[in-house]
Amino acid sequence: MSMPVLVSAALTDRGRVRTHNEDAVHADPCMGLLIVADGMGGHKAGEVASALAIVRMREVMEKALANDPEPDTHTAGELLKDAVQAANHAIFEAAESDPRYSNMGTTLVAGLIMGQHVHVAHVGDSRLYRFRDGQLECLTSDHSLVQEMLDQGLYTPEQASRASNRNIVTRAMGLQAEVEVSLQQYPLEQADLYLLCSDGLSDMLDEDTIALTLHQFGDNLDKAAHCLVEAANQAGGRDNISVVLAVPGKAGCDAD
Ligand code: CA
Repeated sequence: MSMPVLVSAALTDRGRVRTHNEDAVHADPCMGLLIVADGMGGHKAGEVASALAIVRMREVMEKALANDPEPDTHTAGELLKDAVQAANHAIFEAAESDPRYSNMGTTLVAGLIMGQHVHVAHVGDSRLYRFRDGQLECLTSDHSLVQEMLDQGLYTPEQASRASNRNIVTRAMGLQAEVEVSLQQYPLEQADLYLLCSDGLSDMLDEDTIALTLHQFGDNLDKAAHCLVEAANQAGGRDNISVVLAVPGKAGCDAD
């Protein structure tokens, strides 16, 4: 097994209201790949969509990195984007071919920590935050109705946080043969901590609470992930809650 590029923790929880968990999480410390997907669709289709997104992304990334183990920064971002596009297509095809899965979809946020950069791809309202020098910053901009209204000045942040339409996404994976993927890259700095989450976390906890938890427990990512999920449940747990945490550049996975 290759050397770990990060130490990570991944946790998903049904929450206190929903009857099942449609979120899926993934963290591969050796590949540097982190994913949160928040599925949607009738019956159990949401779970199928979010799980399929992760399986397909992994397959594509593994194959690409087997061919090119040390891609340059631009290529690494393109690989990540291609993997998201392949996952979108896999969900779309599954939904087209089986009536039980018609119209299933998922949001997705994926981080790829490689070399000196973190690459971030997202579709929908799952988020990636960076915790650096005690400051929490959201690096993704939701593809949601509320975000569009914020951008146009039609909502204040206060109105947005209370809006009843806050869960309406304007982009999702699996609904069409191709999807528009937002891709960004940022240079890593020592002691950065990255948080990927579904809206079941970011809707229940304000950023100050998230930052305080990361400040207190950031040296133990498993504990920090449990504390975040617990806090979201204590705040009501109205939706499935998913958290992936990662710190680059530390030995983390079992190397045997
Ligand atoms: Ca959700």
